[in-house]
Amino acid sequence: MDIYGKKKLNFQMLKKKIKQLLIGTNNKGKLKEIRDLLPANIKTFPTSKFNLKSPRETGKTFKENSLIKSQYFSKKTNLICLADDSGLEIDILNKKPGIFSARWAGKKLNFNKAIQKVYKALDKKDKNWRNKKINARFVCALSISDLNKKIACVVGKVEGYISKKPKGKNGFGYDPIFIPKNKIKTFGEMKPFQKYKLDHRSDAFKKLRKFLWVLPHQFCKSLIYD
Ligand code: IMP
Repeated sequence: MDIYGKKKLNFQMLKKKIKQLLIGTNNKGKLKEIRDLLPANIKTFPTSKFNLKSPRETGKTFKENSLIKSQYFSKKTNLICLADDSGLEIDILNKKPGIFSARWAGKKLNFNKAIQKVYKALDKKDKNWRNKKINARFVCALSISDLNKKIACVVGKVEGYISKKPKGKNGFGYDPIFIPKNKIKTFGEMKPFQKYKLDHRSDAFKKLRKFLWVLPHQFCKSLIYD
């Protein structure tokens, strides 16, 4: 193909890239992290603008649940929607809490309660667990849907260990008890930009970039939130 033909093709591809997205979550911690990770030129809308409840997560995998959410919120708003389903897998607990990570925190999403539940389950499994390395990982499935149509569905992961006690006040959810591999601090002790360099959500985002309209940094004066 000649150079002009190729340019035309790239322009067509650029036109198809996503420029605005509804962020399909009612979790404020996730909303902030997803907005921080998206290219600054993408316009985003929160679900709070539409006063929508979250759908029931009836899937058996992170991918299935993220698709349930992105399709549900897209159909409710007529906007292309990006949704995340994520959680913490602990190997000696047979990968629990896994897709039930939010549900371990109860209706009020009390993560002190969820963290105590993790420690209780570990005590029950092995009284001596604090003297061992307890392998765990955060998993994040991200999907983009346009009504019922799946545009993308990707998974990101970060491997690590469970901390002997909760540490740090940054982040959200299980961050105070997760130490990424080859690090000493928990996610809860890290600054947001340190966490984003390593975490499951940014790993998944790297795989989504080709669907998004990304401008070079100098063109993005500020984040465009609604
Ligand atoms: P869901 O995807 O809405 O079902 O919720 C996933 C749950 O997993 C969250 O409510 C958090 O408890 C946990 N989780 C997911 N990602 C993170 C993270 O980056 N840090 C800490 N906890 C997380």
